[in-house]
Amino acid sequence: MRYSIFSLLAHAAAGNRRWTPAWRDAAPKPGYDVVIVGGGGHGLATAYYLARVHGIRNVAVVEKGWIGSGNVGRNTTIIRSNYGLPGNIPFYEFSLKLWEGLEQDINYNAMVSQRGVLNLFHTDAQRDSFVRRGNAMRLHDVDAELLDVAAVRRLAPFLDFDNARFPIRGGLLQRRGGTVRHDAVAWGYARAADRLGVDIIQNCEVSGIRIVQGAAVGVETSRGFIRAGKIGLACAGNSSRVAALAGLRLPIESHVLQAFVSEGLKPVIPCVITFGAGHFYVSQSDKGSLVFGGDIDGYNSYAQRGNLPTVEDVCEGGVALMPFLGRVRLLRSWGGIMDMSMDGSPIIDRTAVARLFLNAGWCYGGFKATPASGWCFAHLLAADETHPVAAAYRLDRFAAGRVVDEKGQGPHPNRH
Ligand SMILES: Cc1cc2nc3c(=O)[nH]c(=O)nc-3n(C[C@H](O)[C@H](O)[C@H](O)COP(=O)(O)OP(=O)(O)OC[C@H]3O[C@@H](n4cnc5c(N)ncnc54)[C@H](O)[C@@H]3O)c2cc1C
Repeated sequence: MRYSIFSLLAHAAAGNRRWTPAWRDAAPKPGYDVVIVGGGGHGLATAYYLARVHGIRNVAVVEKGWIGSGNVGRNTTIIRSNYGLPGNIPFYEFSLKLWEGLEQDINYNAMVSQRGVLNLFHTDAQRDSFVRRGNAMRLHDVDAELLDVAAVRRLAPFLDFDNARFPIRGGLLQRRGGTVRHDAVAWGYARAADRLGVDIIQNCEVSGIRIVQGAAVGVETSRGFIRAGKIGLACAGNSSRVAALAGLRLPIESHVLQAFVSEGLKPVIPCVITFGAGHFYVSQSDKGSLVFGGDIDGYNSYAQRGNLPTVEDVCEGGVALMPFLGRVRLLRSWGGIMDMSMDGSPIIDRTAVARLFLNAGWCYGGFKATPASGWCFAHLLAADETHPVAAAYRLDRFAAGRVVDEKGQGPHPNRH
């Protein structure tokens, strides 16, 4: 059934008793042309584009929990393409363009809201680096505006502009950036892929990858062996563990990142705002809650929960930027497992095992990347060639020294 105002009215007239599940609860078949491991945003988007763009519909997405239980349903929902390196800008801009048409494409209201992303700067040196980034974006036809203090004040008068330690000197604004309702992205892609014949298999953990003569031929799962023509790994925070099932050691560490949601407030924060003197980013959801986050917890973990010192650190950053936050009550918080790569950039590539492909290392950037990641991974799986906008995301770049280090932090995953 296609969602539309007419179907909504028809269901309402029938007392809303005729809604059916948005996707089938598929049981595993003996084999598929492609098996995607991981039913997060990237796995589901990959399956959808395999079916829609490449006509490959004999596809299974195998998820150990339920759809939306991973980072796709845990992130702070920010989308943007305000990157500075040539390896990143075309990819994230392609993703933003896909977001712009996504709801019509998948026939699902994902609440894509291009309310703008404002990165504040607090020193002259930081302004210079933001100017460089803005210029790099504009050279790639990506929108970027440099705001002076007066313009930032007009946009967000509640900020602490004259804080003696971190005075605000201006900001870099990308108006086309914004937020998208994260779990709706998972549900929308799942429903759209299912409608094209993809099997979405929940509660099915992959516990082994069967390799015959150097080629992957299927996955061992908690619901039996599934044969596969090709296997795509899209396991985000668990990438290293799942790749290890095929004997691969990835340049990735897993870290916890926390997200926080406040009580509902009247509209106050007009766009996404990031603090340049600490690590703090915030937006306001359509329900009124402030949604914010900051640094990762800083040690390796597979636990989907964080610790109090980081809560304190994030809230300190928030209060330094917008003192009114001190009186706002925190409603809930949670953690997600981040696949932090050595240079802070992702990997979309083949592996040393034939017919086994890898999509991983998304760090902080994975939600905004979802559509482009799915598109490019589907392209790689279907055509066995790298999509041009993902050309920088090769696995061998770490050995070859061609890293894509947007932050310039070096090989320290916890700092990216
Ligand atoms: C708190 C937080 C805030 C964030 N904020 C942002 C943001 O604002 N903007 C942004 O761009 N990015 C953000 N991110 C990053 C982004 O959410 C992730 O990079 C992205 O969601 C990862 O891709 P995914 O959606 O496919 O991951 P996931 O949803 O985690 O999907 C991976 C799936 O693989 C499954 N899996 C793992 N092992 C197995 C197995 N053995 N068998 C079967 N299935 C398995 C997992 O259960 C999981 O569902 C944030 C992340 C966190 C944690």
